[in-house]
Amino acid sequence: MRELTSAPPQAKHAMSTDRRKHVLVVGAGLGGISAAISLRQAGYRVTVLEKNAHLGGKLNELRAQGFTFDLGPSILTMPHIFERLFTGAGRRMADYISIRPLRPHWRNFFEDGVALNLYPEPERQRAELEKIGEDPHRFARFLDYANRLFDLINFGYFEQGLDTFGEFTRCYGLRRFPQFDLLRTMHDGVARHLREPHVRDMMDFFIKYVGSSAYRAPAFMNCLPAVQFRHDLWYVDGGLYGLARGLACLMAELEISVHLETEVAQLRTEGRRVTGAVTRDGTFHPADIVVSNMEVIPAYRRLLGESDHFFHSLRRFAPACSGLVIDLGLDRTYPQLAHHNFFHSKDQRRHFDHVFRKGLLPDDPTVYVVAASRSDPSVAPPGCDGLKILPHIPPLDEKNPVAPEQYLALKDRVLAKLERMGLQDLRRHIVFEHFWTPHDIERMYYSNRGAIYGVVVDRWKNLGFKAPKHSAKYDNLFFVGGSVNPGGGMPMVVLSGQNAARAITQWDRS
Ligand SMILES: Cc1cc2nc3c(=O)[nH]c(=O)nc-3n(C[C@H](O)[C@H](O)[C@H](O)COP(=O)(O)OP(=O)(O)OC[C@H]3O[C@@H](n4cnc5c(N)ncnc54)[C@H](O)[C@@H]3O)c2cc1C
Repeated sequence: MRELTSAPPQAKHAMSTDRRKHVLVVGAGLGGISAAISLRQAGYRVTVLEKNAHLGGKLNELRAQGFTFDLGPSILTMPHIFERLFTGAGRRMADYISIRPLRPHWRNFFEDGVALNLYPEPERQRAELEKIGEDPHRFARFLDYANRLFDLINFGYFEQGLDTFGEFTRCYGLRRFPQFDLLRTMHDGVARHLREPHVRDMMDFFIKYVGSSAYRAPAFMNCLPAVQFRHDLWYVDGGLYGLARGLACLMAELEISVHLETEVAQLRTEGRRVTGAVTRDGTFHPADIVVSNMEVIPAYRRLLGESDHFFHSLRRFAPACSGLVIDLGLDRTYPQLAHHNFFHSKDQRRHFDHVFRKGLLPDDPTVYVVAASRSDPSVAPPGCDGLKILPHIPPLDEKNPVAPEQYLALKDRVLAKLERMGLQDLRRHIVFEHFWTPHDIERMYYSNRGAIYGVVVDRWKNLGFKAPKHSAKYDNLFFVGGSVNPGGGMPMVVLSGQNAARAITQWDRS
């Protein structure tokens, strides 16, 4: 049964006389943008259809009362992956987007009063570790382990866009599989190297970059600290949405046709081919190749109306966590905050267990707090802080619905926790407030059950792998973004777009 929101029987046709092959990209998130730019550079004619009024998908911003908030991502890592989109067109990213590294990377607050910074410089980090009695040599050995994992994963999984067991075996050879540390969880990998509980919690929480649990993710996810320690942590001046603005300029210069507020309601098929997309207003957009930046499960369900039997094979690609996105404009600053802060749960194992195993709202979550005004005065009025507050919470579950009052109660618990841990009288200083639940995230981006990082990384469900980029069902249908390999987070979805473009050109020539 097809689930079509609007697809009139007689669709109008969008005509073109250009003879180059035409690629239709459904969705202008970073995955779709990256695929569109890479395919244009490979010589295709590219049209992007985006349901929302803005480019960038979850990379989104909110401006109100003199505050600018990153509604989506606020940490940029691996900018060299973005740079390729510009160099591929003979340009320099720096001419479009201004970025700078931040110090410290993160500030970590614990319920017992300990505050710990994370720095990429070994000497500065050593001083932090000595404050709480972790052996800096242990930490250095942990980073060596993280670097080895990163090199291994980067070589094949990231850069060659591996999707299948066969591709892995050909690339790495069976003999190298033990190097992935497959028998341990991420937390086991941390605990094997580090002793001090605060430091363990801090390194476990690197799993936040993919919205999963350190107790369920495989140990090779300990490559994440290497991403940050080796490639640094970056800010985009004026707010992260500057990335989308820069990419929009590049797309315009490359003459990529972008249609905003144009929702795709159906993908038309003939046998094993997708022939094009029907938009909500009934227009049919024919295509030689379709790239879906809509996630795999929602696209098969809403645009292709696949059978329940088909979804059974996709069950392992369960959604990553969702989030409660709270943006607060304050009439004061909290100087103890760095740009990026984590207020850790008293029992982080319990936090992960609630969110990722039991599917419950956490009673004491680890909370991420961004105070961008700490390094960029342009994002808040003078003397004020704008805070983005993000606890990770389970994705929507129709069998176990969460009432609006439960989300509100969690918001109160989070603000009370921040007050308890030093942001005194926070609630009395709010002059602007914005609040999103997983329902809003699902409605905005059509992500699977309101997930914010695509597919969950779970050793038992999928060993950490997401869906393949090439559809198993339709020959000329490809996917990009957080639901396909190498997964969620901005640099990874941009990489997925570049890898998909390479896979498409190879498939097209074969
Ligand atoms: C609150 C939050 C905080 C985050 N923090 C970070 C961070 O600090 N660092 C980091 O690297 N990552 C972070 N992430 C994750 C990161 O934002 C995502 O992994 C990435 O932006 C997802 O890109 P995407 O292309 O996969 O999907 P999306 O950005 O969701 O893009 C999909 C696009 O497709 C459009 N679409 C869907 N269906 C249709 C349709 N039928 N027709 C037309 N258009 C359609 C959607 O509107 C959307 O624009 C965060 C995400 C959130 C929400």
